[in-house]
Amino acid sequence: MTTVQEAVRRARAYSAAERAGCTDPLARPLRTDPPEGVRDENGYPKIENPRSLRSVARASQDCRGCQLWARATQTVFGEGPRNANVLFVGEQPGDQEDLAGHPFVGPAGRVFDEALAEAGIERKRLFVTNAVKHFKWRASGKRRLHERPNSAEIAACRVWLELELRLVKPQIVVALGATAAQALLGRAFRVTKDRGKLVSSPLAEHVVATVHPSSILRAPDDDSRRAQMKTFVRDLKAVAKLMSGPIVGESARE
Ligand code: SF4
Repeated sequence: MTTVQEAVRRARAYSAAERAGCTDPLARPLRTDPPEGVRDENGYPKIENPRSLRSVARASQDCRGCQLWARATQTVFGEGPRNANVLFVGEQPGDQEDLAGHPFVGPAGRVFDEALAEAGIERKRLFVTNAVKHFKWRASGKRRLHERPNSAEIAACRVWLELELRLVKPQIVVALGATAAQALLGRAFRVTKDRGKLVSSPLAEHVVATVHPSSILRAPDDDSRRAQMKTFVRDLKAVAKLMSGPIVGESARE
């Protein structure tokens, strides 16, 4: 068993070893932690096998790294092929995702699916996750309304995102919205200003940000919704182009 922080530290070391030419750094033997308790002093669970995405996902269900677990139904870990070339990061699970236990299956997920289809990207080829794995909400009558996670919660959950990134090792990372961009690229990054631009980052060969599909649902009228969808699809088409070959230059857009 190993702690989340230890798994992240090892994953970073593996990546460094990989850059140094080791062909299979994850095949190295791991130090075995004593099986003492389910979680460490920061509330992160022990992981049975930190090389296994399934094992990491299973461990994340017991996370108490911040207080968001307490009011959510379950941890919603990322989903998709372990060898996915592209990893999309959203903000956090919504009401339907929280109940279903899967990312991007609610209204924003349907906008995402529609835009992916228009851009010619098959969702089954993607790894899709969120910066924060538990649903943060406030009650409004019988409804649970989305609340944006704060920077402490984003930082607390970063360990899981980092493990997903290190295990999937995507060539392309796409941040959907400001929270994902903050988690991946820092607080200074502005999606409004820099969407669609390739960002230099150690996270992956190509890193790019665009809006979260939920922003399209919040458009004030049909015309602006159509216009926002068009721009979102344009950003995704640029990702599709990255998926089909190397891109040189400052912008992922045509
Ligand atoms: S939001 Fe993230 S850090 Fe907080 S309890 Fe859930 S999985 Fe853990």
